[in-house]
Amino acid sequence: MAGDLSSTKTVDHENGMEGIQKGGISAVFDINDSVEDHIRDTIVAGAYLCDEEAVEVVCREGPEQVLELIEMGAAFDRGEDGVLHLGREGGHSHHRIVHAKDMTGREIERALLSAASKHPNIQIFEHHFAIDFLTRMDGDAIKCQGIDAINTSTGAVVRFLSEVTMLAAGGAGHLYPCTTNPKVATGDGLAMAFRAHTVVSNMEFIQFHPTALADAGLPNPPKSRDNAFLITEAVRGAGGILYNQDGERFMLEYDPRKELAPRDVVARSIDDQLKKRNEKYVFLDISHKPREEILSHFPNIAAECLKYGLDITKDPIPVVPAAHYICGGVQTGLHGETSIDGLYACGEVAHTGLHGANRLASNSLLEALVFSQRAILPSIAYMKSASSQGCDVWEVDSEFWPRPMSWKSMKKSANYTAVMKYTETCRRRLQAIMWDYVGIVRSTERLKIARRELARLERSWEDRLAWYIGYQGNVASVEICEMRNLFVGGKLVVESALKRQESRGLHYTLDFLDVVESERHPTVLVPSASRQLFGAAHV
Ligand SMILES: Cc1cc2nc3c(=O)[nH]c(=O)nc-3n(C[C@H](O)[C@H](O)[C@H](O)COP(=O)(O)OP(=O)(O)OC[C@H]3O[C@@H](n4cnc5c(N)ncnc54)[C@H](O)[C@@H]3O)c2cc1C
Repeated sequence: MAGDLSSTKTVDHENGMEGIQKGGISAVFDINDSVEDHIRDTIVAGAYLCDEEAVEVVCREGPEQVLELIEMGAAFDRGEDGVLHLGREGGHSHHRIVHAKDMTGREIERALLSAASKHPNIQIFEHHFAIDFLTRMDGDAIKCQGIDAINTSTGAVVRFLSEVTMLAAGGAGHLYPCTTNPKVATGDGLAMAFRAHTVVSNMEFIQFHPTALADAGLPNPPKSRDNAFLITEAVRGAGGILYNQDGERFMLEYDPRKELAPRDVVARSIDDQLKKRNEKYVFLDISHKPREEILSHFPNIAAECLKYGLDITKDPIPVVPAAHYICGGVQTGLHGETSIDGLYACGEVAHTGLHGANRLASNSLLEALVFSQRAILPSIAYMKSASSQGCDVWEVDSEFWPRPMSWKSMKKSANYTAVMKYTETCRRRLQAIMWDYVGIVRSTERLKIARRELARLERSWEDRLAWYIGYQGNVASVEICEMRNLFVGGKLVVESALKRQESRGLHYTLDFLDVVESERHPTVLVPSASRQLFGAAHV
């Protein structure tokens, strides 16, 4: 969440994706490049499902936003001539990836945090977990007037009142057992927004990275990790070969480009092998290359694998696809506005229409920059008009909304421990359902199984909560809130996937293998139409 008050789930620089993303930010700076080419590349990657206005806005305004970041102090790599060094990634017809070594996101975050911490009007609340929005009806409109949050250091529930709220809570990779996303990516923002009755779109389009390190295949696997370790596509680019556990080079069966086929084709092929063979991982082998070459090109991967007993210069790397990015989210307009007055959204939590059915590499950081900037003036205007109409948020009775109950008082009880244990079990089960039935290759039957299984699991979890801690729907702990949010996120993905009767971009279903022109529209979920499915009230 951001605004004059900004809350983060952890220490802000620890766990956002900015810290771990390794590519860059795409923007047109090369004289041989053009905004029109960037627009075309984005629309082609998005399988012609992008909102063309949103694409135009992002591609046109992107370079200016990157320059503003530089003015704020972000240091991107430059050539010897002092000009920005531009990388090139798959799907881009020109060199246009601005980067800071392989830690662009971290550099952007550093610059933004430094600027924010110096600004007299910005106060950052670290270790505050947002629970739900505070909304009320204003005629026919729903109005957002702040959030409830848990101070995770003290356990206290804190109420923030605000005329304008910007939702920037990131993605939902932890809907799946294997994800490149940081542990905070549990779809909290999506679920909060949907519970508050925003419109949500295109949730079926989940990008899976084909090759994350499969811990299960390591000689001495780690006990657990927050997010999967990424085996970059450069390993395949450098000649890495994919084998199944019987040593067969399976990509030959699927695509003439073999290991160099696009990301979603490789992910689908691996998924098919895993399902057919009932195995947990395949192998990516680079050991046929000279040892020095491997170590100089992939020092981080070599070191990470060696930590767990695997020498990649001698042995193949166990890999598995991992949830990487969610293209859908809270439906926003061209100024970040949502269907709720006073609530704006940007970044991965938002669906601006930029990505369509598949995201072009390095477009997401750009999208976040452009739409957060675009939301500024309209949100100020909204704030002024709300005050001038005499409905200033400071006049609001802050006890209008029932207060969530802190878990603090029950933390030491045996019942609470039992609930936490069961919540952890349910979380693993939900992730398994999503992977087994709502993964890379889908079918109507499997999606319906997922719908049933998720509903059953949610009922069982809520019953257990009621049994152990007299759950009234208002107990707020991070684990409980995240679980509740994961249920909403899972159901949003399943329902969206069931609605799309074609295979397009990242959504691939065995029942509708082709692209269908009449399906070329976003999948829109309106909460009021699905009350039964999404009955979960505010905490
Ligand atoms: C491995 C990896 C590589 C990537 N590479 C690229 C790339 O090269 N280029 C590119 O453009 N994109 C890339 N992406 C995608 C991009 O990094 C993300 O889309 C982007 O960081 C999203 O930014 P965000 O601000 O929306 O969310 P995040 O950066 O995830 O930040 C969300 C913030 O919200 C906070 N939060 C979440 N829930 C709550 C809650 N309930 N209460 C309070 N705070 C909360 C989190 O703590 C966090 O601080 C990559 C992603 C990954 C995982």
